[in-house]
Amino acid sequence: MNLGAATLREGPEPETPPGYARVKVQACGVCATDLHLLRGMVLPRGATYPVRPGHEVAGIVEELHAKTSAISEGDLVVLHPLAPCGGCRACLQGEDQRCEAVRALGMHDAGGFAEKVVWPVSRMLRANGLTPAAAALLADAAATAHNALRLARLPPGGALCVLGAGGLGTGALAVAKALDPTVRLAAVVRSEASAERLRAFGVEVHCGGLEGAARDLRRRLGRMDAVIDFSGQAEAPAEGVTLLRRGGRFVLGSVVDAQLTLGTSSAFMAHELQFIGVYVSGMRDLAAVIDLAHHGRLQAEEWVSHRRPLTEFNDAVAIAAGRPPGTVRVVVECDGAED
Ligand SMILES: [Zn+2]
Ligand SMILES: [Zn+2]
Repeated sequence: MNLGAATLREGPEPETPPGYARVKVQACGVCATDLHLLRGMVLPRGATYPVRPGHEVAGIVEELHAKTSAISEGDLVVLHPLAPCGGCRACLQGEDQRCEAVRALGMHDAGGFAEKVVWPVSRMLRANGLTPAAAALLADAAATAHNALRLARLPPGGALCVLGAGGLGTGALAVAKALDPTVRLAAVVRSEASAERLRAFGVEVHCGGLEGAARDLRRRLGRMDAVIDFSGQAEAPAEGVTLLRRGGRFVLGSVVDAQLTLGTSSAFMAHELQFIGVYVSGMRDLAAVIDLAHHGRLQAEEWVSHRRPLTEFNDAVAIAAGRPPGTVRVVVECDGAED
């Protein structure tokens, strides 16, 4: 489907309601979801077009309209991309991404492709000391990867294969290694440039796309404890489940506008495989990846392959959609970003 175009508009300074902060955006990552929005994807309940996208946001707190010791004006913060109700069973269990009344930044509420954004203070975490671009990518590329890894429940020293090498795929590999340096990593990628980058990171790679990937990796590495899919391709589950050992988990993080198939059911049933969806992350995932970044175990800065100013938003989107070899994450930087 054709990619629409975005229009940059002047607007009044946004008001900061009680419980919110106004943030001067420094960096905002372009994610596959932003491309789906430009193609007119079906919005979650309660959201309507037009939307201002942008849910991978880092910026400086300009005005704080809440009593909190967690952040102060002048802090660099990362915005968690979801604002849940805080009181339902999912929220109380710490799985705030499963809240039925959840609001999404860049869908329900105006997102981070702007100079200023307002968002609940309770959904921001301090990230002083990180670069704005690295901090922004923690919000989704890293935190969603962290959630996917929680769901994958790899054993210590386990084997993980990631399908796709964009921001989230790269994030999943990097977060897995940051959490357990003994983990064995494999990936399925399309371009030689991605393959080279991941090999340098210690990942066994099948290059050339999904077809035949499982057979090749099974032969070279044996079966996997988990497969995480961020490839955005409808064929990924059917190929990926054949990589799993008995009891293995397939974690689906792709948004695909197509019917999914899992291949034949016999192996799925007889091997007690599990198929799990992953949606964004909870606050604890974001806190965990910020902590990994602060300790130098996660270098999200390395995922920035392209930078564009906000005035060149449509160009940033075209790069993210075209994915020239070497593309990982495109980051939009606002004027005056001290990077
Ligand atoms: Zn995203
Ligand atoms: Zn809730």
